[in-house]
Amino acid sequence: ILYIMEENKMAKYLKQELINAVGMGYGELSLKGKNRGKFEQALKSRIGKILKKYDAKFYMDMSKLYVLVNKENNTDVIESMRKIFGINSLTPSIMIESTVEDIKREVLDIAINAYEEGARNFKVEVSRRNKKFEIGSMDFARELGGHILVNSSFENVKMKNPDILINIDIREKTYIFAEKIRTYGGLPLGSAGKGMSLISGGIDSPVASFMMAKRGMKVKYVTFHSFPFTSKQALEKIKELVEILSVYNDKSRLYSINILKIQQVINEKTNKELATILTRRVMMRLAERLAIENDHMALVTGESLGQVASQTLGGLTCTNASVETLPVFRPLIGMDKLEIMDIAREIGTYEKSIEPHEDTCVIFAPKNPVTNPKIEYVLREESKIENYDELLEEIYNDKEYFNIG
Ligand code: ATP
Ligand code: MG
Repeated sequence: ILYIMEENKMAKYLKQELINAVGMGYGELSLKGKNRGKFEQALKSRIGKILKKYDAKFYMDMSKLYVLVNKENNTDVIESMRKIFGINSLTPSIMIESTVEDIKREVLDIAINAYEEGARNFKVEVSRRNKKFEIGSMDFARELGGHILVNSSFENVKMKNPDILINIDIREKTYIFAEKIRTYGGLPLGSAGKGMSLISGGIDSPVASFMMAKRGMKVKYVTFHSFPFTSKQALEKIKELVEILSVYNDKSRLYSINILKIQQVINEKTNKELATILTRRVMMRLAERLAIENDHMALVTGESLGQVASQTLGGLTCTNASVETLPVFRPLIGMDKLEIMDIAREIGTYEKSIEPHEDTCVIFAPKNPVTNPKIEYVLREESKIENYDELLEEIYNDKEYFNIG
């Protein structure tokens, strides 16, 4: 679904310490005109921010973006760049001058090293963006292949599935690379607006937050708790999840709201089987208000169709109905738990999420929650809470927040 790091057997044939530039593939194919300019601006500013701590510079070479790296930090820089949304692929490269002699010398070095590392056949591919370079790409590829065969122990060129494919990309400078690392893609952080993510300590909501950030949405977070019925550690855990997510979503704010007061009233006044749904409606309503006051134009949840009683079509309808204007994004709606868990592992939130914690709602959770509630019934029960609005106001005004990352 997302992307899984493919093991690239060719990478090991290129000496990591020689990598001095990393090329970036980017750009949603459909982006044109004005949008494209905005996209590139957002991406460059994000790259600049990430690279600052490595003191690394990026530059353009014939409209492709590159970052200069050195052997002290190239693995760290590549690892950080892998997590920048808007980048589709990375090509760790050996950058040299665009002269026939330089290229021949470097390619032969690489080939000899690859042979020593166990490669037994190879292929050379040349792309010539720089038309000042006098030899055509096909001719030059043949020439380089011959040069390797004559001067190394290689006896075979293999067109299909070679042990090592040596790519030579001739621009102002020349870039030699063996692997193309696929990355998350998506859109540069912040280029698609801002949203408020409802985050719990579970597996799903951190993944949902990640998915929206990947699509360019900068998110803030809100979590609801029932202190002292839930512990301070539960909040610490959520802070740590937000910290992990800051790798993707940058530094951000986590709001924390204690909803115990209204949970107690729900428990007293309304039919027990509706407790979860009514609590969810409270959360959504408070989150919407918070979002609007923050100028955030969407809500994000980790709901997945049918996963639990409150996430059936009926349950979702009732929860959704408490939101007045904002769209509610549920990026996991069509995913299975196993798929969500795979993503959680990939992005690094899984281990934190599975640490034991008490969820707010567990405390008043009904033994037999209604599985397909009707909105009329839910509204009727909710109206039994006479001071509903005042209670929400009080709860809302007691919110706290933490800046994280
Ligand atoms: P998660 O793994 O994200 O907790 P879940 O499968 O446990 O999800 P629910 O507990 O039904 O599902 O919650 C559905 C969604 O409602 C969550 O994904 C989250 O977006 C939101 N939510 C639930 N509990 C809280 C909470 N205490 N604070 C903030 N948001 C919450
Ligand atoms: Mg949960």
